[in-house]
Amino acid sequence: MLLGCIADDSTGATDLAAVLVQEGMRTVQTIGVPEPGTETGEVDALVVALKSRSIPAADAVRQSLQALRFLQERGARQILFKYCSTFDSTPDGNIGPVAEALLKELGADLTMVCPAYPTLQRSIFRGHLFVGDKLLSESGMEKHPLNPMTDSDLVRVMAAQSRQKVGLIRYDIVHQGAAAVRARMEELRGQGIVHLVTDVTDDQDLRILGEAAADLKLVTGGSGIALGLPENFRRQGQLGHHQAGILPDVDGLEAVLAGSCSVATRGQVADFKNKRPAFQLDPQSLSDGDAQIEQALAFAQEHMQDGPVLLYASADPAEVSAAQAILGRDRAGELVERAMGLLATSLVERGVRRLVVAGGETSGAVVAALKVSALRIGEKIDPGVPATVSVGERPLALALKSGNFGTPDFLSKAFGFMPGRRP
Ligand code: ADP
Repeated sequence: MLLGCIADDSTGATDLAAVLVQEGMRTVQTIGVPEPGTETGEVDALVVALKSRSIPAADAVRQSLQALRFLQERGARQILFKYCSTFDSTPDGNIGPVAEALLKELGADLTMVCPAYPTLQRSIFRGHLFVGDKLLSESGMEKHPLNPMTDSDLVRVMAAQSRQKVGLIRYDIVHQGAAAVRARMEELRGQGIVHLVTDVTDDQDLRILGEAAADLKLVTGGSGIALGLPENFRRQGQLGHHQAGILPDVDGLEAVLAGSCSVATRGQVADFKNKRPAFQLDPQSLSDGDAQIEQALAFAQEHMQDGPVLLYASADPAEVSAAQAILGRDRAGELVERAMGLLATSLVERGVRRLVVAGGETSGAVVAALKVSALRIGEKIDPGVPATVSVGERPLALALKSGNFGTPDFLSKAFGFMPGRRP
């Protein structure tokens, strides 16, 4: 294993894993820090998905160090700490404290700070982060409920949450190429600077910075900085030219579970219902016991022999508010998530091996119920959503989609990206 990655949330982890696969690394994403003996198969990169973005800094540091130890045990030659491309954090952290703890543990004194990804509308100029044509602080992120980003100057933002010095490598150096960047890195290292914010105006800059980062034990940034890292291993003869996204065939029945109420998912549910049978669950019925779950399973059993079935709780805002008014927001959510977990395990007992799940929290509940701890990452279905196959004794083909991702026909087309077929 060459590149070990620690991601501070699960959709960000998947996004990063998809970039690594695109750049030719065989990649497995784990859900949380796996148990020491966990089987991951032969891989070039491992991405440990944490949920550490908005938890107390001390907890984020502890979990990240656990992830680091796991990756070191697997032989990682370089560590990438992945955070959000909008640098979601506060003066308490967690980017600064986690980066510093990882540096200390790795015995390193310099790292890159690069959340940019110009193709995805995140660029950095003179240390200021832009979202499209707007400064971060005018992009809407200044109103984020958990991590309001009111300052676009990443040198200042990073300095506020770090103990060590922060510097900047400007675009005029980056444009001169990797050798110039490395020379500047050495100069700044000489000045005691530890965190290097980097200007990035197009994706080629990310490849230059990736090359310049070849000898850093720790790189920090968004998924874009991963564009240039695999080539370093190839240059050193450590990484072959693999077709990285090839997944094993998984044959079995097909089902879709949707617990997301996002606009995109509701459109996808409507689209699927025009094509195949679907059964709607609702939190109020679920609060009366498991009768509705039994009905949903009987419905699935009846229809899934000749194609995928959809079991969904997705509802429009009025229905969601009505359920929440009676049950409370958390209880309504918990009832649906529990039901989705139970349905997933029951469907697998009945022969389902190919499963599409809509909703971030819903996906979390489903993989937990199925005891999936690692996913091999395959071909991209839509931006941010690859096909995956779980690692372990009974492989499942899974497409886990967070709410607003995917084209309107996602819930049916996703099966076409999963190798294997239904009986
Ligand atoms: P998204 O990725 O779109 O945010 P999530 O699965 O993360 O989707 O979150 C959706 C939340 O809404 C989950 O907690 C789910 O249990 C809950 N939910 C789903 N359907 C309903 C419903 N009909 N009424 C109330 N809450 C619901």
